[in-house]
Amino acid sequence: MDLIQVSRNCPVVYIVVPCYNEEEVLPETAKRLREKVRGLIGEKTISPRSRILFVNDGSRDRTWEMIETLCKAEPLFGGVKLSRNKGHQNAVLAGLMTAQPLCDCAISIDADLQDDVNAIDQMIADFRAGSDIVYGVRSSRETDTFFKRFTAEGFYKVMQHMGVDLVFNHADYRLMSARALKGLEDYHEVNLFLRGIVPQIGYKTSSVTYARSERFAGESKYPLKKMLALAWNGITSFSVKPISLVLGLGVLMTGGAALAGIILLIVQLVTHSLTALSALLFSVWMVGGLTLTGLGVVGEYVGKIYGEVKARPRYIIEAVDLDPGVEKSEAADEE
Ligand code: UDP
Ligand code: MG
Repeated sequence: MDLIQVSRNCPVVYIVVPCYNEEEVLPETAKRLREKVRGLIGEKTISPRSRILFVNDGSRDRTWEMIETLCKAEPLFGGVKLSRNKGHQNAVLAGLMTAQPLCDCAISIDADLQDDVNAIDQMIADFRAGSDIVYGVRSSRETDTFFKRFTAEGFYKVMQHMGVDLVFNHADYRLMSARALKGLEDYHEVNLFLRGIVPQIGYKTSSVTYARSERFAGESKYPLKKMLALAWNGITSFSVKPISLVLGLGVLMTGGAALAGIILLIVQLVTHSLTALSALLFSVWMVGGLTLTGLGVVGEYVGKIYGEVKARPRYIIEAVDLDPGVEKSEAADEE
């Protein structure tokens, strides 16, 4: 068993930045991140082997050429190019997995720097103090439009009701230690929803709050359609509650119909006035309820299969403190 050692004193930090058609923001982003990382290296807070790693997510503009130029100019910058557009979550994962064997911790941040880079100092302070995962949590949504705020907060509420373990108002701005990244590597799912997976990894976690600003250039690459797709993916990847709801509804309908059936029967016995319509309505509800119950039961099994197929790690070992006394081979010799 390999337990990964992370150095917390003067860590190698990788800043992972997913970029999709970001030529408008990239020069400024590179400048601000360079300043931040150089400052931290200068203070000896982080190792000079720290890097800023841009992930080009199949951009159609000059993003990759710009990343290449940056890498040539300075070893502080690195680049990963995906073969085509794979979406924000996959781009972040590709960057983190590239960083994992090379770093002590990695921080993912969007290319538009809407997330305050100054929160990085606190993230690293928390990491040095022993946290393996530090969530960037935005303190307010004042700079968001009403629509974005409404939909985003609705999203967290729905997710909570669906029983998905999420950090409120945390997007994908976070620090993860190399061993937490190793844990992340064991989640093989294709439908990636990092915000749902990361809290499942465990280890000591903490949060840093920051004020989120507006995009300083370019347009959002997350239109409503992509946001809805992400939300739906989050629910369907982390919750089988919709299936339970179907089952519950089916049982309720069947129960209701049975009750109505008993009442109708009594009415018929007492008054002999049962109409064909009530008998028909009873059977419609009964058949509907039974069908829904059957669907729900099948769904419960499908939900279990879904869980097995995802093959998520059942546990991640953080530490082992064990003295087996004698080596196995020695014990065999003694026998
Ligand atoms: N992004 C990406 N691939 C995509 C869409 C977006 O890598 O298919 C990146 C984008 O370059 C940015 C981050 O994901 O760094 C977040 O996108 P954006 O800022 O447009 O989203 P918003 O902040 O509006 O939710
Ligand atoms: Mg943004």
